[in-house]
Amino acid sequence: MKLHEYQAKEIFRKWGVPTPEGAVALSGIEALQVAKRLQAERFVVKAQIHAGGRGKAGGVKLVNTPEEVKAAAEYLIGKRLVTHQTGPKGKEVHKVLVEEASSIKQELYMGILIDRDRNRPVIITSAEGGMEIEDVAKQSPEKIFKEWVDPLVGFCSFQGMKLGFKLGFDAKLSRKLTAFIDKLVRLFEGVDASLCEINPLILTDEDEFLALDAKLILDDNGLSRHPDLSELRDITEEDPLEVEASKYNLNYIKLDGNIGCMVNGAGLAMATMDMIKFSGAEPANFLDVGGGASAEMVENAFRILMSDKNVQAVLINIFGGILRCDTLATGVVKAARKVRVDRPIIIRLEGTNVEEGRKILNESGLNFQVADGMKDASEKIVSIVQSFS
Ligand code: ADP
Ligand code: MG
Repeated sequence: MKLHEYQAKEIFRKWGVPTPEGAVALSGIEALQVAKRLQAERFVVKAQIHAGGRGKAGGVKLVNTPEEVKAAAEYLIGKRLVTHQTGPKGKEVHKVLVEEASSIKQELYMGILIDRDRNRPVIITSAEGGMEIEDVAKQSPEKIFKEWVDPLVGFCSFQGMKLGFKLGFDAKLSRKLTAFIDKLVRLFEGVDASLCEINPLILTDEDEFLALDAKLILDDNGLSRHPDLSELRDITEEDPLEVEASKYNLNYIKLDGNIGCMVNGAGLAMATMDMIKFSGAEPANFLDVGGGASAEMVENAFRILMSDKNVQAVLINIFGGILRCDTLATGVVKAARKVRVDRPIIIRLEGTNVEEGRKILNESGLNFQVADGMKDASEKIVSIVQSFS
């Protein structure tokens, strides 16, 4: 689950990670009130969307007076911001973060994420702050310094000192940086984060480290342990079909292709997507209905697939194990009776109760093409794709 910068910063403050003073505002008036409360000399007004690259796209405004804060907030709220992370459609701004402008002596990069090769969190730092870390990694990998957190031992001071020295700080500043990282690692583990990124992390004129930006992604599987954090979800930032799918515990990710697919099991879902591509088409989604799907879940999954306007045909590929083929067939037939099925549907079924499943489909009177194995399903997709062109 992604969080907004203002939400991440509130969590940072709770865990003792220093950030600039500030608060979120939903209107120009609210922004004005926040600015007056802050009593700062200069302010920053920052668009709150689930994407970075706002600075370059005009989503971060540096201003001098509370009245200018109000004007900047009114300009940003309601605007569609297009950054290199939003895609061409951009994202609409509903909120802004108003904060005190900081004096920046130096900008750094700091991130923590799970290193899946080493099975532990990795701390990534660079003196190239404010830049895209992917570009730094490509062009000058020697400017990136990493330390790994041992799950049993935890983060150690010597690791922080090592990073501090590599970044060019003296012992005193390296000790300050170590204390900063120590809090950040505790936060990362404490909230079950999968990514925590501060870009830029700054050193102020007063030689304090401060998180100027904050990106925090929480592991969805850890959310049941943090009911307070679950409430921070902002569904207006998510794809509407994905929000709908999450209501029914469906593992659904919308993609840009034209063949909708419904599969049980993540491995089979990946293989099916490969098969669609191999046939010359593009998958419109990833969808794993799961092993224990009920007819109701299948029905909802089918409805969600069909409501994607890009979908020109649907491939249902089920290996009946725990999810029996007759359950699947019942769900699909029920859904197809409710949704207008105006696009070709190919179904490949194997496994438990496959005969019953096929019978339900054949007797439904609906127009499904039943495929005999993966190869046949693939050939049927090819012929559909050819009919488009
Ligand atoms: P994004 O990563 O989406 O572009 P950032 O939060 O990193 O957004 O802000 C972009 C730039 O704006 C920062 O690199 C920094 O130079 C400036 N900035 C952001 N917040 C502040 C602040 N509180 N004080 C001073 N400058 C800021
Ligand atoms: Mg940033």
